[in-house]
Amino acid sequence: MSQKLRIAIPLGIVAVAGVAFAANVSVGNLSSFGWESIALICPVGALGTMLASKMMVPRAVISLVLAAAAIVLLGRAFCGWVCPVPVVSKLRGLFKRKDAAAVEAETGKQLDTAPLTADERAALKASCGSGHTCASCDHHKPADSRHFILGGTLLSAAIFGFPVFCLVCPVGLTFAFVFLLVLLFGHGDVTWSVVLIPALLLAEVVFFRKWCSHLCPISSFMSLIGKANRTFQPAINDEQCLETAHGTACGRCAAACEVAINPRHPELGTAATECTRCRACADACPTSAIHFPLLARKQAGTEVLLDDADRGASRGAAPVAGAAAAAPDLDDLEPETIS
Ligand code: SF4
Ligand code: SF4
Repeated sequence: MSQKLRIAIPLGIVAVAGVAFAANVSVGNLSSFGWESIALICPVGALGTMLASKMMVPRAVISLVLAAAAIVLLGRAFCGWVCPVPVVSKLRGLFKRKDAAAVEAETGKQLDTAPLTADERAALKASCGSGHTCASCDHHKPADSRHFILGGTLLSAAIFGFPVFCLVCPVGLTFAFVFLLVLLFGHGDVTWSVVLIPALLLAEVVFFRKWCSHLCPISSFMSLIGKANRTFQPAINDEQCLETAHGTACGRCAAACEVAINPRHPELGTAATECTRCRACADACPTSAIHFPLLARKQAGTEVLLDDADRGASRGAAPVAGAAAAAPDLDDLEPETIS
């Protein structure tokens, strides 16, 4: 249900903007929206505009403050529920074929649920803190490619006196394409943009698969501000989780997460502050153990929602096949809790 809503909401926003444009009612789009004198702009656009004009723009400052407050409260929920780019990127499914087994493996439906072997438990114990780095820990590096793109976006605005990135922003391109369709079918306006804009959009988010995770400066901005976020992050009820309640390897929540967060073993995945609240992990959990509390808490006897500082001491783990796991220490569980 939540996954359908995640598609319906962005499409609904694009549809409303398109209808308003056709009716000549000024509501704008996600890059710049509002009603008459009340208007907000995207935070990266706001920063770019001020750097380009080399002056404080009250509307941009207000937009930045409100965006930062929303990110501190909700993290990257915009990416999961509002932004149309993940929906557009699903078009890449038209260009590739997967066999059913691969799809099931990706969604975790066919993951091994056998109890951890002795070797796997030993690997769990020896994992994080051993000093080496692995692909999972690589997600925790302080700056990723998105941050460099954000820096380039702001620098180019200051150099050229214009927020250059706005010309290629896929959010803006999505709305621009809809508006061009309105002009084409409503007014018979034929321009090359009707071809060029969707071509650029497809090139960015369909054929280049890593836009959201590697290039998006808006995602980068949210990631940086979102480090202060502590609310509505995924948390696990250990009494319901297969791993802690039964000592059974599972990992479905980690397999379902598109941003590589491992809710069961957060030290092995992307930082929890990157969570888009998409709820895919909760939907994938066979025991409905995952919830999104107002405030994250560490739970007794397990590591849940470690912050970046806590993770620093426990990096270097290689995920264990079939378990994708390090903590909790299953050997420390009382025998009667492992059935
Ligand atoms: S942790 Fe869960 S809610 Fe957060 S991004 Fe991953 S799947 Fe979505
Ligand atoms: S929280 Fe749910 S999906 Fe994740 S390991 Fe536990 S039982 Fe499996």
